[in-house]
Amino acid sequence: MSENLKAIVIKGNNAKEKDKNILLFSLEKGKIWVTFKGVRGDKAKMKYAKEQFCFGEYMIEEGKFSNVVTGVDIIEDFNEIAKDIDKYFEANAMLEVVQNLDFESVYQRYEVFMALLNGFKILAFHKSARLAVLLKFFLSVFEIYGVKLYSPKCAGCRAEFHDNIYINHQVGELVCEACKTYQCEQIGKGEFNLIKLLSTMPYDKLPNFPEEVGQKVLKILIKNFYNRFDKNLKFVGILDNI
Ligand SMILES: [Zn+2]
Repeated sequence: MSENLKAIVIKGNNAKEKDKNILLFSLEKGKIWVTFKGVRGDKAKMKYAKEQFCFGEYMIEEGKFSNVVTGVDIIEDFNEIAKDIDKYFEANAMLEVVQNLDFESVYQRYEVFMALLNGFKILAFHKSARLAVLLKFFLSVFEIYGVKLYSPKCAGCRAEFHDNIYINHQVGELVCEACKTYQCEQIGKGEFNLIKLLSTMPYDKLPNFPEEVGQKVLKILIKNFYNRFDKNLKFVGILDNI
């Protein structure tokens, strides 16, 4: 049986001889391993189709031992991302988030795919503050999974936020001074404002912000991801050591 999958390359492993195994994130089937046979197809095109971040329509033949790629139409290779080390690490971190997600519904799979694709387009072709796309994508994932972090009012008592804002790590919500428990950690006004902006602005209108504020928000989100999904994210090349 053969089928076409619209997919983004998450990563690849070299298999025996000239074969290569690639993990795809497909719109139709979620994450799926496929094999490129060394000698098939237009060589140059097939080479780009195996690279990380490549977005294309992959023709897959279901084989006895593996899913074999028999052809590819590259829609966008996102080569601009791979050429810039900062963009590369940011996109790589987004793929690490995808790798650590289980898709329980078509809705989740579709929404995560579109958020990833939109994020890659901004990274590749538009100016954005460092970490902005990754943070926006990360916040979108919580929202898609029904555990949205940002709320304009206290998630506990629905009162307006005043001076002190906390994140409740047990439930992943923002709460006020009166509603905080011992699992809560205070977050700064700068971090709150950045979470608000990134949660409410589309990808093409992402704000500028100081990188240290972005790093603090990133650490909050990594901790929240661990608490929600029980998965540790490494984010190689992204996290500073402060
Ligand atoms: Zn409250």
